[in-house]
Amino acid sequence: MAIERTFSIIKPDAVRKGVIGGCLAKIEEAGLKIVATKMIHMSQRQAEAFYAVHKKRPFYGELVEFMTSGPVVVSILEGDNAIAKYREVMGATNPAEAKEGTIRKAYGTNIGENAVHGSDAPETAADETGFFFGTAEVHQY
Ligand code: ATP
Ligand code: MG
Repeated sequence: MAIERTFSIIKPDAVRKGVIGGCLAKIEEAGLKIVATKMIHMSQRQAEAFYAVHKKRPFYGELVEFMTSGPVVVSILEGDNAIAKYREVMGATNPAEAKEGTIRKAYGTNIGENAVHGSDAPETAADETGFFFGTAEVHQY
C-alpha cells in the first residue's frame, strides 16, 4: 500500500467536549502519523468554500453555522492507505450507525455534529490540505 496523506478536522462539537486528545489518540492508535496540526476558527467564507460541494443540500446553512461556531483542529495525517484508513477510524457519518471503537461512535453527537471530518479521495485530500496548510507546515519524523 502506498503512503498517502489525508486531511482531518476535529469539529467544534468535539473541541467543546474536550476530546481533541481522544480523537488524536484514535488517529495515532490506527498508525496514522500527524505531520501538521493547528487550531483555527473558520470564517463564514472559509466554511462556505470548504463545503461548497454540499451547497444544494438542505443542511448546508446549518453545516456552515456549526463549523464556524467555535475553533476546530485541522491536521494532515500520513500513512499507508491514509484516506480510507482515516474514514474507517472516523466511522459512519451518523454516529448512531458508527461502529464500536470509531471516533464518531465515541464522540459524535448526531449526524450534523459528528466530531470529525476526513477527506474522501486523493483529489479532495490535496485540495483540502492546500486550503488550510502551506508546504512549510508539514513535518517529517
Ligand atoms: P465529512 O465530509 O465531514 O468527513 P462525511 O463524508 O461522512 O463527513 P458528507 O456526506 O460529506 O459526510 O457530509 C458532510 C457533513 O455534513 C457531515 O459530516 C455532517 O457534518 C453534515 N451532514 C451530512 N448529512 C447531514 C444531515 N442529513 N443533516 C445535517 N448535517 C449533515
Ligand atoms: Mg464528506
